[in-house]
Amino acid sequence: MRPSVLDPLFATVTTLPGVGPKIAKTISGLVGGQPDREATLADLLFHIPHGLIDRRHRPGIAFSENGQIVTLQVTVDRHFPGPRGGKAPYKITAFDATGAISFVFFHPRRDWLEKNFPEGEQRIVSGKVEWFNDRPQMVHPDYVLSLEEAANMPAIEPVYPMTAGLAAKTLHRAIAAALQKLPDLPEWQDGAFIERNLWPPFTEALRAIHTPQEQQDLSPEGPNIRRIAYDELLASQLALALVRQTMRQLGGVSRRPDGALQKRVISALPFSLTASQAAAIRDINADLAEPTRMLRLLQGDVGAGKTVVALAALAQVIESGAQGALMAPTEILARQHFASMKPLCDAAGIRLALMTGKDTQKERRLLQEKIDAAEIDLVVGTHALFQGAVTFKDLGLVVVDEQHRFGVHQRLALSAKGRSVDVLVMTATPIPRTLVLTCFGDMDVSRLTEKPAGRKPVTTVSVSLDRLEEIIGRIGAAISNGQKAYWVCPLVEESEKIDLAAVEDRHQVLEQALGQRVSLVHGRMSADEKDAAMAAFKAGETRILVATTVIEVGVDVPDATIIVIEHAERFGLAQLHQLRGRVGRGDKPSSCVLLFKGPLGETATARLNIMRETNDGFLIAEEDLRLRGGGEVLGTRQSGTPGFRIAQVEDHADLMEIARDDARLILETDPELKEKRGDALRCLLYLFGRDEAIRLLRAG
Ligand code: ADP
Ligand code: MG
Repeated sequence: MRPSVLDPLFATVTTLPGVGPKIAKTISGLVGGQPDREATLADLLFHIPHGLIDRRHRPGIAFSENGQIVTLQVTVDRHFPGPRGGKAPYKITAFDATGAISFVFFHPRRDWLEKNFPEGEQRIVSGKVEWFNDRPQMVHPDYVLSLEEAANMPAIEPVYPMTAGLAAKTLHRAIAAALQKLPDLPEWQDGAFIERNLWPPFTEALRAIHTPQEQQDLSPEGPNIRRIAYDELLASQLALALVRQTMRQLGGVSRRPDGALQKRVISALPFSLTASQAAAIRDINADLAEPTRMLRLLQGDVGAGKTVVALAALAQVIESGAQGALMAPTEILARQHFASMKPLCDAAGIRLALMTGKDTQKERRLLQEKIDAAEIDLVVGTHALFQGAVTFKDLGLVVVDEQHRFGVHQRLALSAKGRSVDVLVMTATPIPRTLVLTCFGDMDVSRLTEKPAGRKPVTTVSVSLDRLEEIIGRIGAAISNGQKAYWVCPLVEESEKIDLAAVEDRHQVLEQALGQRVSLVHGRMSADEKDAAMAAFKAGETRILVATTVIEVGVDVPDATIIVIEHAERFGLAQLHQLRGRVGRGDKPSSCVLLFKGPLGETATARLNIMRETNDGFLIAEEDLRLRGGGEVLGTRQSGTPGFRIAQVEDHADLMEIARDDARLILETDPELKEKRGDALRCLLYLFGRDEAIRLLRAG
């Protein structure tokens, strides 16, 4: 149960004065409550300002610079209301000893203006000055006060990330009210550690962040943010350590079959394993032989051949008499895994089934019966596999492909489907070390460091969209020579409709230019339609596949040699690299055309340059982290580090390592979190939404 000291923080924002259902909804959207859950005061208080406004700056009208926020003491001169009903703004002129200024109002409330700007009287006005035709003006000042009221204006104000439909003042008031309710919380950190770092207590830090007196109060390197970032990191590391501890305690099954099934799978391959594939399989076999659970991350650049390793692992578990599951992030990928594994499974005698969200109830029931009867050894599927209703007779290994799209709890949900499920997580995103730690915690890692032999690097060029026709001409020539090409159109997040129009449009243009040899795949198509389009492309009936980014992860057509990425400037580096990984999978030289629409910003230019310069996924991931921050490396968020509200990979990487060691130490001395600090740490886990881990404690 949640410690009651936290209750005030888990009240919803509607309990705050001035926050009705409508504002609550807007606030919830902004501060990261889930769509179906109203934000709590804790959510609100973790919405921290990204800057501050200093209203103490009083340069005088003539010395106010363009774009600056200033506070002026002026004498109101005259009102120029503009014709009634007209579009012209309402203007009020004023002056001080240095010069004159206009205050400008659109859609004015006249009576309010007349009352607040009485002609001939002095007023304190604060807002942003803009110079327009060599004259200063201020559009919609933030504050207008009489001299007596001047003290009501805060000298320094935090500035929050905002959203449409929410007034800054409303948010400020809500946060101020929430701060009032902040309870005294027990210290969950080690006292000596806090002292050494000169960090304030949690509540003090949070208060200081919302009532900053100087930039330092808000700085990611300052003590307030670092303190709370560390709290958050510790919560996350502790949760992951608890998961791991539980998995270890529950114990695993030692699986030591003689490996015949694995050998059959490997010898059915039309190629020999790379050294790193073989090494990864050895790691996995050793893990499986141990009586503890496996929790291993298989990291390898796109095209490195992770699927084969997964299948080898699954074969080992299946030979020992258990069942396996492989989970893919999208339907297309699940189908593709199924298709590519089928011949190998047939050759080795592994009974394989596919499960997706599109199955009919009847199909699902039949499949479930077969799984129950142990007539199926291996199920490949999408998140349909997570659903509570699906059960296994004896699930021994779960392979999760492209893990970063799944959360920790989903992983837990799935591993709860067997008595002692081993977990192998595969990711093609070359996640830098720091992120591995934040996202996966204490996992063992195998890396596929080499590509299969004979692969040629992909030549990458960037070309302006102005040269579209020329590019179409060249693609036409290439496909007449027997080549195959992907043509990727970007996802415009705001509107699925526009996306659809863009791909359909492009499809039509290409079809007209190149004849009927162009397939189309996008997210709105049915699974069958997608399959048919992919199959036609794979078989070579069509030579171009126009697609939205649904092809991003994992699609495998080894003889495709060209990929055109339209509006490449809109993609993140990791995504571009993933997409480029669709080609260069065979023994023919391949190329990647980054079609951009200029003018390019600085970051976009840097990104395209990096793409031209290197094919190395790890280098690209590090650059991506540098250019855009942690969240985007994983492609999950506009900014910030995924799953974290305060902590940032770029700023707090040093703290991450400390938090991991700290978490380990804590569980070594108090594995059940039962002692005094343990109690406080339970608060911490709840506060940062990592309380699922506490349930594990009770279960175990
Ligand atoms: P990813 O690591 O991106 O998931 P895949 O498992 O899809 O890569 O493998 C990419 C392609 O490389 C597939 O066509 C696969 O059959 C092939 N492949 C995998 N391992 C080898 C190997 N050792 N030698 C040659 N080709 C391989
Ligand atoms: Mg893959």
